[in-house]
Amino acid sequence: MNLLKETAGAKSVAIAGHIRPDGDCISSTLAVRAYLLNARPDLKVTVFTQDNPPTIFSYLEGYGDMNLTYSPKEKYDVFISLDASSPDRLGEALWFFDEADKTICVDHHETNPGFADVNEIDPDACSTCEVLYDTFDKEHINDAVAECLFSGIVHDSGVFQYSNMSKHSFNIVGELIGYDFDGPKIIRETFYEKSYVQNQILGRALLESILFMDGRCIVSMVDRKMMDFYNVLPKHLDGIVNQLKNTRGVEVAIFMYEMGTQRFKVSMRSNGLVNVAKIAMLFGGGGHDRAAGVEMNGTYYDIINALSREIAKQM
Ligand code: AMP
Ligand code: MN
Ligand code: MN
Repeated sequence: MNLLKETAGAKSVAIAGHIRPDGDCISSTLAVRAYLLNARPDLKVTVFTQDNPPTIFSYLEGYGDMNLTYSPKEKYDVFISLDASSPDRLGEALWFFDEADKTICVDHHETNPGFADVNEIDPDACSTCEVLYDTFDKEHINDAVAECLFSGIVHDSGVFQYSNMSKHSFNIVGELIGYDFDGPKIIRETFYEKSYVQNQILGRALLESILFMDGRCIVSMVDRKMMDFYNVLPKHLDGIVNQLKNTRGVEVAIFMYEMGTQRFKVSMRSNGLVNVAKIAMLFGGGGHDRAAGVEMNGTYYDIINALSREIAKQM
C-alpha cells in the first residue's frame, strides 16, 4: 500500500490511534501527520488522541497540535487508523471513522481483522511505525518523520530487545538514524527514565508480586489506593509488566491495575511458550503473541484464576 496514492484525491484526513496511547501509537499518528504535510502542505490533517497523552513524547513534531476534544464533529475525506487492533480501540475517534468517505488501517496486531476499506496489517512487523515506513515514499521522509518512526520502533521493541525485531526492522532503524535527531536521547529520556514516584510504585509492584505455577508465572497488581497514594496515573505504570517478565524462570507475567470497582486493566507478557493474545481475545482483548492486554471484571483473585486456567492449557 502507498499512503500518498490512497489519499491522493482527499482534501482532509483524520488520523487516530488506540485509546490509552503508547509510544508506537503517538509516534505513528504524528509520523503520518508529518509525512502527509511534508508531501502535501495544503492538506487538512487532524490527529485525534485522548486527553493527557504522555508528555514524554512532546518533542515529536505536531504533538501540540493534536485534537484532544474530538470536536468539532466534522466529516473527513479519509480516516487513517493506526496501531488499533479493532474499531472499539479508537475510542471517541470512532465517530470520525464511521463518517469518513474512505477508511485506511495500518497496524501490526495479529488480532486485527482488517476493519477498514484499505488495510495494511503486518503481524511480523515490530511496530506500526515499521509498517508505515514501507508505505512511505522515501523522498517525503524528513527529519521529523524519521524521528517519529524511530520513537515508535524503540517503544514497541523495548529498545530493539524483543523478538519482534527482524532483519528488516534493523535495516529500517539503520536508515532512520541517518536523519538528524538525537536517537540515544530519545531512548534514554522516553524509555528508561522514570519519575521518582514511578520507580517507587514499580518497586512496590515487584515487592508484592507473587510467583505461581512453579515459578513459571508471576502476577502483581496496583490498586486505586496505591495509585492515589503515589499520585500516579495509569500511563505512569507502563513498563512494570516487562520488569516482572524479566524474572528468571518466568514464562508469563501478568500485571493489573484497578480501573474501577471490580474492573481491572490486565497486561500480559510471554517469553514465547504461551500465546497471550489468544488468552486476551477470549476475554475481549487482543494484542500480540508475546504482549497482550484486556479489561476484565471481577476480583483480583477471580481474574488470576480465569487467566491461569487458560495459561495452564498452553503450558
Ligand atoms: P498493554 O498490555 O496495554 O501494554 O498492551 C499490550 C499489547 O496488547 C499492545 O499491542 C496493545 O495494543 C494490545 N492491547 C492492549 N489492550 C488491548 C485490548 N483491550 N484490546 C486489544 N488489544 C489490546
Ligand atoms: Mn500500541
Ligand atoms: Mn504497536
